[in-house]
Amino acid sequence: MSPKTLYHNLVRSNIADMAPYTPIVPFDVLSKRLGIPAEDIVKLDANENPYGPSPSVYRALANEKDYHIYPDPDSTALRQALSQYTGIDATHIIAGQGADELIDLIVRLFVTPGDTVINCPPTFGMYRFDTELNGGKVIDAERKADFSLDTESIVEIATSGKNTKILFITSPNNPDGSVLSDAHLRELLQLPLIVVLDEAYIEFSGGSRADWVLEHENLVVLRTFSKWAGLAGLRVGYGIFPHWIISHLLKIKQPYNVNVAGSAAALASLADVRQLRVNIRKIVAEREHLYSALRNFDFLEPYPSEANFILSRVVGRDAAGLKAALAKSGILIRYFNTPGLQDHVRISVGKPAQTSVLLSALEIISEQA
Ligand SMILES: *Cc1c(COP(=O)(O)O)cnc(C)c1O
Repeated sequence: MSPKTLYHNLVRSNIADMAPYTPIVPFDVLSKRLGIPAEDIVKLDANENPYGPSPSVYRALANEKDYHIYPDPDSTALRQALSQYTGIDATHIIAGQGADELIDLIVRLFVTPGDTVINCPPTFGMYRFDTELNGGKVIDAERKADFSLDTESIVEIATSGKNTKILFITSPNNPDGSVLSDAHLRELLQLPLIVVLDEAYIEFSGGSRADWVLEHENLVVLRTFSKWAGLAGLRVGYGIFPHWIISHLLKIKQPYNVNVAGSAAALASLADVRQLRVNIRKIVAEREHLYSALRNFDFLEPYPSEANFILSRVVGRDAAGLKAALAKSGILIRYFNTPGLQDHVRISVGKPAQTSVLLSALEIISEQA
C-alpha cells in the first residue's frame, strides 16, 4: 500500500464517502462576477432579513468591553432574556452558535453509527447533513404534493424497529412555508423517538409550540435570531429542551459556543423587540403582496407561506433557467436541484423596492417567452 493510500484510509469511511459540500459563492465575489455593485444586488436567496439588525445592535457591539474575555459558557444573561421573550424558564434553554449547532449537538447526543433519523423532505438540509456526518442513516418520509407531512409514513418508519432516534420537523417549513397542525404534532409526539420541531421562522407565523416542551419529555423546539432579528451573520440560535436532555447536552456542548459579539447582539435585539416586530410586520405584509403579484405570472404557481419566503412552482419553463436569467440582472433567488423541487424556485421576501425590481425583471422574462 502506498503511503498516500495508507493516510487516506485513515479518514472516517462515512466522511470519505460523503459528497463534497456545494460552496456558496461569497457575496462580494458574486458582485464582481456579475459586474454589479453589491448594494444593487437584490439578494432574495437565503431568507435573510432585508431590514438587518436593530440599530441598538450596532451600539451594543461598539460599546462591548469584553472582547478579550472568553464568553460565559452558560450564556446566563442571554438565556435569562430569552426566558422573558419566550415565557419559558431559562433552565429549559440552551443557546447555540446558530440553531445549526444545536441540530448537530442533538444528533450527536442520540445517534450512534447505524441508528436512523426520520427526515421529511423537501425541507431544510442540515438535518440530513448532520445525521450523515455523525454516521447515522436518514430515512425520508417525503412530504405530500401540497408539502404537508405524510404522518402515516412517519409512523410506519418510526415503528418498524430500525433504531429510529429522532424525527425532524420544520414549521413553518423551509422551503414552502407551510405549518404543521397541533393535531399532527400531538400524534407524532406519541412515537417512541425525539421530535425536534424547528421554529426558525415562527416569528413570521405565530403559534409557537415552545411551551409544549414543558408537557412532552420527547419534544425539542429550535429557534434562531438569524431570520426575524436579522443576525444571520452573527450565528445565534437557541433550543428549548426538557431538563433531562439539557443535562446531557451541557456535557457535550463546546464551552464557548456563543461568542461575545453574538451574545451582545442577541441581547440588544431582545431589548428592542418592539422595533423588530415592526420589521416583521412589514415583511409579512410584503409577503402577501409578493404572493398576489407572483400569481399574476402564468408561468408561476406560488404556494401560500407563513414564513419570510415564497416557494413557487415554475410551469412551462425551466426553473433553473429562470433563476439564471434573474441572476444576470443581479436578482438572486434559490433553486434546488433536488427531488420534488426541480420545477420550483424559492424567493425570500425583501423590501417593497426589491419586490418591484424582481417583478419588473419577471415581466421582461415573461415577454421574452
Ligand atoms: C435558516 C434556518 C436555520 C438556521 O438557523 P441558524 O440559527 O442561522 O443556524 C435553521 N432551521 C431552518 C429551517 C432554517 O431555515
